[in-house]
Amino acid sequence: MSDAVKRKKQVPQSPSASNFIRAAIEADLAGGKYAARRWGGKPGPAQVHVSGPPDPARIRTRFPPEPNGYLHIGHAKSICLNFGLALEYGGACHLRFDDTNPEKEEQEYVDSIIGGVKWLGFDWGPHLYYASDYFDFMYRAAEHLIETGHAYVDSISAEQMRALRGTLTEPGRNSPYRDRAPAENLTLFRQMRDGRFTEGEHVLRAKIDMASPNINLRDPAIYRIRKASHHRTGDTWCVYPMYTYAHPIEDALENITHSLCTLEFEDQRPFYDWLLERLAAGGLLQRPLPQQIEFARLNLTYVVLSKRRLIQLVEGRHVAGWDDPRMPTLAGARRRGYTPEGFRRFAERIGVAKADSWIDYAVLEDCMREHLNEVAPRRVAVLDPVRLVIDNYPAERSEDCHPPNHPQKPELGTRAVPFSRELWIEREDVMDVPPKGYFRLFPGNEVRLRYAYLVRCVRVEKDAAGRITAVHCTYDPGTKSGTPGAESRKVKGNIHWVSARHACRGDVRLYDRLFRVPQPGTERDFLEDINPGSVRTVAAELEPALRDAAPSERFQFERHGYFVADLKDSRPGAPVFNRAVTLRDSWAKDGR
Ligand code: ATP
Ligand code: MG
Repeated sequence: MSDAVKRKKQVPQSPSASNFIRAAIEADLAGGKYAARRWGGKPGPAQVHVSGPPDPARIRTRFPPEPNGYLHIGHAKSICLNFGLALEYGGACHLRFDDTNPEKEEQEYVDSIIGGVKWLGFDWGPHLYYASDYFDFMYRAAEHLIETGHAYVDSISAEQMRALRGTLTEPGRNSPYRDRAPAENLTLFRQMRDGRFTEGEHVLRAKIDMASPNINLRDPAIYRIRKASHHRTGDTWCVYPMYTYAHPIEDALENITHSLCTLEFEDQRPFYDWLLERLAAGGLLQRPLPQQIEFARLNLTYVVLSKRRLIQLVEGRHVAGWDDPRMPTLAGARRRGYTPEGFRRFAERIGVAKADSWIDYAVLEDCMREHLNEVAPRRVAVLDPVRLVIDNYPAERSEDCHPPNHPQKPELGTRAVPFSRELWIEREDVMDVPPKGYFRLFPGNEVRLRYAYLVRCVRVEKDAAGRITAVHCTYDPGTKSGTPGAESRKVKGNIHWVSARHACRGDVRLYDRLFRVPQPGTERDFLEDINPGSVRTVAAELEPALRDAAPSERFQFERHGYFVADLKDSRPGAPVFNRAVTLRDSWAKDGR
């Protein structure tokens, strides 16, 4: 694990630490930057799509996913940041599908993204947009750039364009078509739009500076020919805007104030500003213009967060699908039992930074654990059952015990759990010949059965292989938890159990990390870093109240961690649970 990873784990940032974004917003608000905005007033020459509320002090952010994959934990950071700031400053956050690339986008992804943002608990109100809704405007803006000498149609091949672009140390060179007259450019561009050329024959480029030290300003392509159907506009268009051209325009049309993006777009910012300045100067956009601010993307240990790699995991069947509980997608996290509140807490805790770093996966688990500890009712499950027989307890009898549903929340009350002569206990809670310091069951030793009686181990039964098959005990009727004097005799071991006669059997999936190493793919292909033991399913014995768990219902299984009834596979009567996270220090106070 790198030093950066360790440091992050040890020193989680305080909520507003290093939040330079909040600082920028507050400076803009204090300086009255948005006070002059004509929110909802008479639109400028270009019809502005979004009529904002008439409150000049409001900020607007946006979350702009490309609908070409499922949301992952990195997106959750961006969602929490954008929606969180809008909430904090009484503004709005838009959900905008950046669907400028006709080839890779699908409705399935749009639906899952909408579901994911909602699940995280955020609301975009009326502000749901699609970049493709602005294609008309983007096209007109391109004509405007041509007419004002800021764009030209280039007709060299892609290889020639690459060769002329130059390098980081050498300036680029002008294309022979760079000085075409605006009228000729306009004719050609319209012919491109009308489908008169094949893909790659021409491209529209911004006319900026081939010698610029910033390669992104060396006449970037802004429109290309693509003879592809778009998931929303169908075959209306055969020219499509490049992302770097489309994105600033989308922001400006929606009156976004602060356009937050990840660091790799830092070098694009001069083009972002160049473009919007020219369109505003031509009266096509209103001022004030949006401001791009970059922050470091989330890198999380033991997972991969790139769509390309996530697709490989799914298509290569290394996982059972996008919503496999081991996947770092929101759909997977939800099935895993992670909570929206846990994600929001995580986003606050890690804050935003200006430099890339790695966050340890344990920080995310801590956030989930903290929230689950608050909300998850306690239940009992025996994951590796062995039979315990209380020899002096009548076979036909049973009685109720009353464990608390939440030890820190007495208002959640208790529930009745049946106790009887034969119980299931954990295999590791009994030993024939105990090592030093083992306080649980072994012949002659006494332990407490949680919320019930003290029992003393009489003997164990074993099979031919020496494996314990049953434990025989006697109980002390005067020691039932909650009755006077019950606690007068102290014992060190305190173990959980379920009544064999009343228990419900269910599958429980115990998850481990999907990758064996903190930074998968750095030493070898990331697929070779997959942890072969990332899930283990056990047949558990569950207390009767778990029989009818509703899908997605979450619990703490005492001493085992936090679990959720699987969204897909669990049914009332036949429960299936996934472990979300283990308990911290779960054994320490059990005398282990
Ligand atoms: P990927 O790299 O996985 O393909 P992407 O950035 O291409 O992701 P988009 O759909 O374009 O995916 O992302 C939507 C928004 O989410 C963008 O604003 C992007 O900056 C943000 N985002 C994506 N990944 C991360 C991450 N790891 N950390 C923070 N923000 C992210
Ligand atoms: Mg992207």
